[in-house]
Amino acid sequence: MPIMNGVVLPGDSTVRHVEVDIPEPGHGQVLLRMKASSICGSDIRAIYREHLGQGPEAYQGVIAGHEPCGQVIAVGPGCRRLSEGDRVVVYHIAGCGVCDECRHGYMIGCTSPYRAAHGWQRDGGHADYLLADEVTCIPLPEPLTYVDGALVSCGFGTAYEGLLRLTLSGQDRLLITGLGPVGLAAAMLGRAMGAGPIIGTDIAPERLRIARDLGLVDHAVPADESAGAAIAELTDGHGCEASIDCSGSGAARVQALQNTRTWGRCAFVGEGGQITFAVSELLIHKQISLHGSWVTSLRHMADLLERLVRWNLHPERVVTHRFRLDQADEAYRIADGGTAGKVCIVFD
Ligand SMILES: [Zn+2]
Ligand SMILES: [Zn+2]
Repeated sequence: MPIMNGVVLPGDSTVRHVEVDIPEPGHGQVLLRMKASSICGSDIRAIYREHLGQGPEAYQGVIAGHEPCGQVIAVGPGCRRLSEGDRVVVYHIAGCGVCDECRHGYMIGCTSPYRAAHGWQRDGGHADYLLADEVTCIPLPEPLTYVDGALVSCGFGTAYEGLLRLTLSGQDRLLITGLGPVGLAAAMLGRAMGAGPIIGTDIAPERLRIARDLGLVDHAVPADESAGAAIAELTDGHGCEASIDCSGSGAARVQALQNTRTWGRCAFVGEGGQITFAVSELLIHKQISLHGSWVTSLRHMADLLERLVRWNLHPERVVTHRFRLDQADEAYRIADGGTAGKVCIVFD
């Protein structure tokens, strides 16, 4: 049986290199040669430092990496669309296929015991090859790159879904709290959807600088006590019509609500943590619609790929660090630092 290299995460802020058999595609499955496999904040929060996850976030010791993109090199029996040589993005959750959430493409929300996410409960992208179900593969259109595709498979998909939930348009100023990779994605996509000016906040000066240097935000505001006054000044005292929290920090979420305009919309996509806030003052009396949004749907991921081509956007612009698989240790250390843009493992 031929062998491949892979990476697992023991949960003590280390990575472990393993050699495993190259899998063979079963019915309805394809084997992908991995081309790019990026690191998501959830990998750090719930797996790398410590195995914190429960339920859908329980890590079961599999090959890590839930942002995979690659090329089909073998097709199992019963496949209906893909063939060898196809470039694909992997929607990283395989659901049961028959529940309500699966049927409208949100396999992320499937609660069946058959549900398994790459990099969590089934092998992920940090290996030379990945076994994927054909139904979770989305063709990667030219001229998008494999790194572009990897970024769409969780982070950009998540940002896009949050912005769709806000029905973002050219009528909106957009506030983004948290300028990690998902915040940078929200800025890039928010601009393409017509919003502006775009205001981003973060506690890390490095991340403010990345957002500013890439031209993704119009204003990069330090997330300190003066942020509210700074945002008010930039928005004629109103706050932004739309806001999205990409940080997962309670303080940043409150800041997002505080600086959302009356009748505005706010979405939370940053995971984890807790929040306490004055409900009447910040939500009810301001008539704010608050949305929780978790990853995206298969259809919206396909839509996003199509739009990125039309918008002439490359998500890989937010990648600040690229490593080979044998450098995964360093890749995770950088991603854990909280000051980088996107970190991606690349192959070839
Ligand atoms: Zn993710
Ligand atoms: Zn399901």
